[in-house]
Amino acid sequence: MTAPVFEHLDEISAALSSAPHLLLGLDFDGTLAPIVLRPEDAAMSAETVSALGCLAARKDVTVAIVSGRALTDLKSFVHIDLILAGNHGLEITGLGLNFRHPEGQNKRERLHQICAQLSRRLLSIPGAWVEDKGLSASVHFRAAEESAKEEVAGVVNATIGSDHKDLIVRRGDQVLDIRPRADWDKGTAMRWIRDRLPHRSTAVCYVGDDETDEDVFTALKGVTIRVGEYDSTAARFFLHGPEEVTEFLGWLLNARRSAEGLPAQEGWRRLSVNR
Ligand SMILES: [Mg+2]
Repeated sequence: MTAPVFEHLDEISAALSSAPHLLLGLDFDGTLAPIVLRPEDAAMSAETVSALGCLAARKDVTVAIVSGRALTDLKSFVHIDLILAGNHGLEITGLGLNFRHPEGQNKRERLHQICAQLSRRLLSIPGAWVEDKGLSASVHFRAAEESAKEEVAGVVNATIGSDHKDLIVRRGDQVLDIRPRADWDKGTAMRWIRDRLPHRSTAVCYVGDDETDEDVFTALKGVTIRVGEYDSTAARFFLHGPEEVTEFLGWLLNARRSAEGLPAQEGWRRLSVNR
């Protein structure tokens, strides 16, 4: 049963506060930044940036943001020294890591052609549009009429071909993600990152709001947190939205400080006491 984070802080603290090292993974849209109609308008609040920056600056915490966005796109929203994984983990950079999945590279041309075809075919559906992200693609339909949304899925399936031999389509929140068929997802990407950390006894916490984040919840042992509304989840805990994620980050920062015998940082203590 998925449980509210703030009613289980003792259990979460036991897992995360005093582990010698902590790997904290987070999705971006809908987790760190509120969902917006146009992806380019996304932004983290000042509080989120501050909490994330404080955690990332700690030597005993490694922070990774794992997103469906292209890495170059993701970089324009995050100006903190941490690990960034784009295209659902097909490309990873930061803190000395550098990775591009070979299957993503191999399928670039095919994906590019698919994107061009889809852009033409979706012209007749206002509010639907294609984003070519290099190693994967997204068909967005948040702004489309409700009645046209199924039609978008039909166009995508017809364009890719029913066998989906080399590409897979996965439905997210108001988006269809098209990715190369590869044994790789956000879950394997997080495991790949964890296995490259020099620290033994790394505790893992992952927070995300997407269907693709379910791959991480099932791939990793640790504190798993689903954000927002969902039908079913493999995560152990839930938070309601990005504001609560920020509050949780502040709490986590102080939990690590308190385990070292340091006093809570003022701004974050206020958030915790208010609850
Ligand atoms: Mg998300």
